[in-house]
Amino acid sequence: MSGVRVYNKRLLDLGLTLPGFVERSKVIASLPNLGLLTLASHTPDNWEVIYKELDTFSEADIEAVLREVPDLIAFSALTARINETYELSNRFRKNGVTTVIGGLHTTAMPDEAQAFADVVIQGEGEIIWEQVLTDFENNALKLRYSSLANASYAFHLKDCKVPRYDLLDISNYNRLTIQTTRGCPLHCSFCAASRTISAYKKKPIQLIKKELDKIHEIWDRPFIELADDNTFVDKKWSKELLTLFGKYKMKWFTETDISIAYDDELLELLAASNCAQVLIGFETTNKDALNGMDRANWKLKQLDQYQEAIDKIQSYGISVNGCFIMGFDSDTEETFAATEEFILNSNLSEVQITLLTPFPGTDLYDQLKSDDRLLTANYWDKCTLFDVNFVPKNFTVLELEKRFEQLMTNVYSDERVNERKKKFKQTLLNKRSNKTYGTI
Ligand code: SF4
Repeated sequence: MSGVRVYNKRLLDLGLTLPGFVERSKVIASLPNLGLLTLASHTPDNWEVIYKELDTFSEADIEAVLREVPDLIAFSALTARINETYELSNRFRKNGVTTVIGGLHTTAMPDEAQAFADVVIQGEGEIIWEQVLTDFENNALKLRYSSLANASYAFHLKDCKVPRYDLLDISNYNRLTIQTTRGCPLHCSFCAASRTISAYKKKPIQLIKKELDKIHEIWDRPFIELADDNTFVDKKWSKELLTLFGKYKMKWFTETDISIAYDDELLELLAASNCAQVLIGFETTNKDALNGMDRANWKLKQLDQYQEAIDKIQSYGISVNGCFIMGFDSDTEETFAATEEFILNSNLSEVQITLLTPFPGTDLYDQLKSDDRLLTANYWDKCTLFDVNFVPKNFTVLELEKRFEQLMTNVYSDERVNERKKKFKQTLLNKRSNKTYGTI
């Protein structure tokens, strides 16, 4: 199931008039599901594979799938679409099809998922998937397979196969994804992606080359989005990666932390490899909220360098999309004002603002659950990053929603979006004319 729908009606109406706000979510919604394409590559040749994305589903969609007479259907979905995925899985089970479900959400909530699928995959799927298919053929399927509970199912990225991009109708996509790293060592309290599936690991460069070669076979000058949580953690490996990327005719995008600003050699390689934009989680300008966010307090220690880091990275011609989260317990009215001021005074070329969201599997979720502050037990549909799902500390739910809407209105006004674009254009012109780079 693809796509995410915002529930806050006022924000949704607002979003329709704020192009900067909807741009990124449109990109995310149109990415293919790399997890399923990866499982497809780990499917033995005696199986025929069909890849299908549904945003909504009707009787006709279900019948169309049933006409293919599938032996087995594997589902993957974000938390925000998991309830519909469960419903769809149950519909197919009633029609006698065996269903398997996996991904971040079901890894965190395997008992919940078990009620809606014949098999639940917890953690990394590659080795497990091959085992599931063998067990299916031998009529010996188990209810659950877990790489977290069973070390023999843990996957080494040296054994990666090229995802089955050939299953896609490429004309439906404006970007393709590859994964070069999995997980992140920082362990931020609200982050589900960093460690739910596996600990931090890197893919061997020669395997990434194979994936890029495959993509270039089907797409002349692709736009690639890395499905990584934090790509440049290991700087030595990152430089090898960027040297490889520099050999291809492509534009690309990834997520990183601000440590890249401290490495000139890496920034030079990044610029030379046609990186279009890096997305950086600054998270907040509120010191109290940063305090304890990650176990080493690394993010708090970077706060004073935020503005210089943005300028330094962008002076290499690389656009920075700065991400900020609102709704931390120590956030007050002043935090909203300070965030807006920080963004206004920064040279960020793009901005992403979201609401703190307790995804299952995170420390944040455990904390709010034990404090009885989650608004409902099953709020998965509202894990959109733009809906409030818990009782805030210094606001009521309505106050937080309204203050967030106000911030969005100000930050994404046409005037501010154009200002940011203009500033970045100027940064690019400066780079061309004097070739001097920012310092930090
Ligand atoms: S740095 Fe980013 S990816 Fe890493 S744990 Fe924190 S939020 Fe997650």
